[in-house]
Amino acid sequence: MKMSNMLNLTMREVPAEAEIASHQLMLRAGLMRKMASGVYNFMPLGLKVLKNIEEVVREEMNRTGAQEFLASAMLPAELWQESGRWYAYGPEMFRLKDRNERDFCLGPTHEEVFTDLARQEIKSYRQLPLNLYQIQTKYRDERRPRFGVMRSREFIMKDAYSFDKDEASMDVSYNKMQEAYVKIFNRCGLDVKCVEADSGAIGGSNSAEFMVKSEVGEDDVVFCTSCNYAANMEKAVTTPEMADKEEMQELKKVETPEVRTIEELVAFFKTNAKKFAKTLIYSADGKLVAVMVRGDREVNETKLVNAIGGAVELQMASPEQVMAATSAQVGYAGPMGLKVDALLVDNEVANMHNFIVGANETGYHYSNVNYKRDFEGIIGDFRNIEEGERCPNCGGTITISRGTEVGHIFKLGTKYSAPMGANFIDENGEPKPLEMGCYGIGINRTMASIIEQHHDENGIIWPLSVAPYHVSIVVAVTKNEEQMKAAEEIYNKLKGMKIEVLLDDRDERAGVKFKDADLIGAPMRITVGKKITEGKVEFKLRNSEEVDVIDIEEVYNRISEEFKRNNIEL
Ligand code: ATP
Ligand code: MG
Repeated sequence: MKMSNMLNLTMREVPAEAEIASHQLMLRAGLMRKMASGVYNFMPLGLKVLKNIEEVVREEMNRTGAQEFLASAMLPAELWQESGRWYAYGPEMFRLKDRNERDFCLGPTHEEVFTDLARQEIKSYRQLPLNLYQIQTKYRDERRPRFGVMRSREFIMKDAYSFDKDEASMDVSYNKMQEAYVKIFNRCGLDVKCVEADSGAIGGSNSAEFMVKSEVGEDDVVFCTSCNYAANMEKAVTTPEMADKEEMQELKKVETPEVRTIEELVAFFKTNAKKFAKTLIYSADGKLVAVMVRGDREVNETKLVNAIGGAVELQMASPEQVMAATSAQVGYAGPMGLKVDALLVDNEVANMHNFIVGANETGYHYSNVNYKRDFEGIIGDFRNIEEGERCPNCGGTITISRGTEVGHIFKLGTKYSAPMGANFIDENGEPKPLEMGCYGIGINRTMASIIEQHHDENGIIWPLSVAPYHVSIVVAVTKNEEQMKAAEEIYNKLKGMKIEVLLDDRDERAGVKFKDADLIGAPMRITVGKKITEGKVEFKLRNSEEVDVIDIEEVYNRISEEFKRNNIEL
């Protein structure tokens, strides 16, 4: 592409609305423009990158034997009513009606669609295993669209659905996808970690997320500093810290007027937060559930939801509900005499001795409380892991960082196939529900994450694999005929080699052109300037400061070498 013919959209100033580097650079380099909150139009440069990422994804998916489909984005409500998600999806789903008042939605994901397709087309075990995928636009009315296409309301997703005859075979399909994802993100130049994720009511180690570490990430990712353990905070397993052994003391009721929070209690009892167990009360689809964790710990609401059967709407109980459960004001809840549908007790609390809890009476606490002697509940892991704790796998030290999810793989089992009647006939002639898996990659979010990991103060530094242009040719003085002629020759020859080249032939100062080349971020730059009289040009990599003056003939070798070095065939 010649820049003199191109609608160049580069901007010098940093757009005020963009907080993070990738969002700023996507606007500044002219990859996209905003149309509405969380809705973006892709410009030619951005579109080229999207297509390149899609191609990497497509190649690796095809290599696994998966087949590409394309489903509609506009989906009839009936399918979602069948799975029960028409209501469960809530306000994140964009809904619309046709002229006959029939309900439709813009698909936020396609499990129902592909399960429906499978139930119509898959009849026999002989057709299995099967993996169908698409690269298609999704719609989600996110509560907080932000950071450009990191969290937008319209985005492109690669979503794949596997169908197998039994669990063992589903595991094989899942593992294939996991391997393909590692290859895809590697090829895109993204440093990702595959972490265990929560899989809701299905449980087990049935879901993994591909996370990029990022300060602006919205998830907490838990890592072990000694072994490979990595998990999403929602899922990370805790090991209870054992309290020192103590003789059981006599239960005491203590008057604690106006003492409610853990800080106030610590000051009042002149001890530390580890001597307290707090009792938090939640409302889960109308039922009251209490959970106890040590005074200095945080409740993990995902673990809580899973413990009570999953798929419930969880909220902190209102002051009225707290009053109904404890007969006291907020701040005095405790396990003894509590009126709730379930009492969940974190492992750690069950191992404490002579601790302090609320007395379910305004202005009172109990001290010297002991599990089993004074109360009982359902024991389990109900809290968040913390920095510095022990790894559940090897006992090493845990560290926590922020991360962004770029991909997600999930063993669904028969979650959709059973209720939707997607059955096949097995070897014995019996109908059985299909064992399914689903696998997503956010294409736009991957693009933004690549920029987060590959940029400097001057602009984007594209990995060769996804770059919109491989090479930028800058003509120092466009009016100089000799320079222009040489540049055009190099340009045409490179194009003949199937290399994507951007020729900056605009009548601009060289400094402006260099700035734009850096901002747009092609991995290689060739400058045709004064030295052309000696048959020489400058060759520079975007990620290095070094400028080599080389013979024109040498240019083609240098470029081919770069492709080789990056394992990319020309
Ligand atoms: P998140 O927790 O970030 O909302 P999710 O769990 O809702 O993600 P999935 O339903 O697993 O995401 O979707 C698969 C992939 O689609 C994600 O890994 C992510 O890359 C991408 N994705 C999801 N929501 C968005 C969005 N609003 N904007 C851009 N990409 C998204
Ligand atoms: Mg989401």
